[in-house]
Amino acid sequence: MADTDSLSRFVFEKFPVRGELVHLNASWRAVLECHDYPAPVRRLLGEALAAAVLLASTLKFDGQLTLQIHGNGPLSLLVAQCGADLHVRGIAKWDGNDLPDDFAGITGGGRLAITIETGTDGERYQGIVPAEGQSLAACLEGYFENSEQLPTRLWLAADQEGAAGMLLQQLPDRALSEEREDDWQRAQLLGDTLSEEELMELADREVLRRLFHEDHLRLFDPSPVAFRCSCSKERVQSALRLLGRDELDSLAEADGSIEVRCEFCGRSYPLDPVDLEQLFLGDEAPLPPASRRVH
Ligand SMILES: [Zn+2]
Repeated sequence: MADTDSLSRFVFEKFPVRGELVHLNASWRAVLECHDYPAPVRRLLGEALAAAVLLASTLKFDGQLTLQIHGNGPLSLLVAQCGADLHVRGIAKWDGNDLPDDFAGITGGGRLAITIETGTDGERYQGIVPAEGQSLAACLEGYFENSEQLPTRLWLAADQEGAAGMLLQQLPDRALSEEREDDWQRAQLLGDTLSEEELMELADREVLRRLFHEDHLRLFDPSPVAFRCSCSKERVQSALRLLGRDELDSLAEADGSIEVRCEFCGRSYPLDPVDLEQLFLGDEAPLPPASRRVH
């Protein structure tokens, strides 16, 4: 049985390469709950969420990593987020019915962005590459090759029930000797023998035993991964404030109310006319008291 909703880290003891295995199960089904994605979109979103957890876990930070694809094809937008506490959420937007099932076809080019926001000082880092390659994994490997100069390999899989991924990465600032370069090549070739079914269905220990039984590995205790949306009434209010009063008035129902629905979790935030009025309190200079008005 596969591990569920977990992230496991491991290291090769004899050469400076680290690895991770992730499984999203209940967390993945929660992401799917309020959307009816066609299979190709669902698969890409699952792979992107697994990748977001793997990438966030290679960083030492306490903020949030966002993987975003702005496509030029049937897929117009995909967002997969993972916080340092391994909370995930994601959405995708697409057009049409008869969708291609390959990365290049469904994205139609466009760009892939990885944004890292640190929680403490709000610092933001973003890397952008063309959305190209055979698969999302290949596109991300190109990102690491170009932006980070950090040789990285990813294997990703997703279906309706779960999403899973494995990452192998050379440790930063540790150039490999020729002999160790051979070990790195060998580890990648072994990774390539892992089928999507094995990645999804086998326990982490079993995956590592099958692939790397000749290597000395240290497998650390797994960390739990869960779905959680960061939306809140306060965030909705500040987003509405940014839209401005005129825009809000044009969006309001006949009774003056507005209902905002979070696209990530489906939670609804109803605001009645009094709520909306309060959003802009203090924006205008107060009128002088009536008794002092001069006509
Ligand atoms: Zn939400």
